[in-house]
Amino acid sequence: MIEVNGVSKSYGRLEVLKDISLQVEAGQVVAIVGPSGSGKSTFLRMLNGLESFSGGSIKIDGHDLSLPRELHQVRKEVGMVFQQFNLFPHLTVGRNVTIAQRLVLKESKAAAEERARRLLARVGLQEKWASYPSQLSGGQQQRVAIARALAMEPKVMLFDEATSALDPELVGEVLDVMRSLAADGMTMLVVTHEMGFARNVADRVLFMDAGRIAADGPPALILDKPKDERLIQFLRRIG
Ligand code: ADP
Ligand code: MG
Repeated sequence: MIEVNGVSKSYGRLEVLKDISLQVEAGQVVAIVGPSGSGKSTFLRMLNGLESFSGGSIKIDGHDLSLPRELHQVRKEVGMVFQQFNLFPHLTVGRNVTIAQRLVLKESKAAAEERARRLLARVGLQEKWASYPSQLSGGQQQRVAIARALAMEPKVMLFDEATSALDPELVGEVLDVMRSLAADGMTMLVVTHEMGFARNVADRVLFMDAGRIAADGPPALILDKPKDERLIQFLRRIG
């Protein structure tokens, strides 16, 4: 589903991603951990075309991200959820979840609303259709953001610290939605500090350090029997 080959990225003279290669099978859930500034967000943004890259190639579901025509398709197929929920504040929950279906997918009003209602029910928010984002808790807003991303019927979902801005008691409800998506077979890349999620839900954990993938393997190996010295230090710091 995702094929990254020898990709790099610089901001001016600062090289933030260095010769990254990665393959992710359909249905795999990959947790990405690593210190602040190691390039995790840049990497995710690159995967849905929000960020250019130099050298190498990226293919998502066979679409080559370096071709402008394909870029458009990839953006539709790759959903992203950010730390800040980024809902449209002036639109109701229902409109937040239908607007891209209407404008980008050219769905009819009825079809878009039908799908939005189904997705809002799925994240447990069917009764919030007419509410505005400011009337919701952070956890509820983040669940709307997930429903909004799912409304594009993506093949890949990217989560960039989706629970980091939430009050501790609201983290669980968002992780539950993410866990159920994983159980349904969604291909997911999840940047997270939630080691419980990485250990119990992810098939695979990547450790990013200074712009490289410094370790990659099953959670039990990466988190419980780390070999890389910087990974050992990282786990000690966050543990
Ligand atoms: P992480 O998500 O792991 O904390 P980021 O991908 O946000 O790391 O950042 C990686 C590096 O790239 C950092 O040194 C950061 O300061 C730098 N960086 C990120 N975005 C930009 C940008 N738009 N312009 C310049 N430097 C950036
Ligand atoms: Mg980040």
